[in-house]
Amino acid sequence: MPYFMILFLSLSLATPVYAHDWTATQGDIIEVTLNSNTPINKLTYMGKEWPFQEAANGTIHGWIGVDLKQKAGNYPIKWLGKKTTTDHIHIKQGEFRISRITVEKKMSSFDAAAIKRIRADQQAIKNTYDMHVDIFPLFTKASMPVDGIESTPFGAQRYVNGAAKSPHSGIDIAAPKGTLVKAPLAGKVLLVEDMFLNGTLIAIGHGKGLVSVYAHLSKTLVKVGEQVQAGQNIAEVGSTGRSTGAHLHWGMRFNHARINPHSLLSLVTPLDK
Ligand SMILES: [Zn+2]
Repeated sequence: MPYFMILFLSLSLATPVYAHDWTATQGDIIEVTLNSNTPINKLTYMGKEWPFQEAANGTIHGWIGVDLKQKAGNYPIKWLGKKTTTDHIHIKQGEFRISRITVEKKMSSFDAAAIKRIRADQQAIKNTYDMHVDIFPLFTKASMPVDGIESTPFGAQRYVNGAAKSPHSGIDIAAPKGTLVKAPLAGKVLLVEDMFLNGTLIAIGHGKGLVSVYAHLSKTLVKVGEQVQAGQNIAEVGSTGRSTGAHLHWGMRFNHARINPHSLLSLVTPLDK
């Protein structure tokens, strides 16, 4: 082995690890850990409490959701107990798709009745974010609800006639009408409703403020209040509501934060071990 390689290897091994500085991108669920010899009773970030659990070896694992629009920067997280430990999360700007379209004015606006319905729909979805679901552990290994081509990525930002629309808070997966949608995690069905923009929609709570939403469905296979297992068929892909073709819109919220569903799939330590 050449000398410079040995030097490089020893340098990388000697690089100090700052265990209490975490890095995340807008829209990530991140796992944070703490080695503490005193018990912890709260994990906080952005004024909210986040779930944590002690592993068999005594390490405490916590999970935090970074909202899609959280400004890049350094933010404290606090492990509260007899002794308080303050760590930091360094949040990086996400690289999201930007598109600009021009449409005739009539096409881009809704009448008063439609606006009223859209607001009621949004509120019904928002209500599910605060519903208590008695499930823990929540982070068992998640899987994709459908196989297909991702047509609109998370965070995509559209400008219509120069005005910024809401960023895309989930991912769109194109798949033929009737394709079965599977629950990516176990949970409880919190909402099944026909909506103006979202079409037929299902919301599932996975515990500790983690909620998933499925929109534009052609058919639902579950009822409100039903417990679902990971991988269970919950619906069929469709193009209901404001949609230009058969696809699944899959969104995730964690304590209200808009989360990229992909970050859920790549969690390092699912808690079901
Ligand atoms: Zn979508």
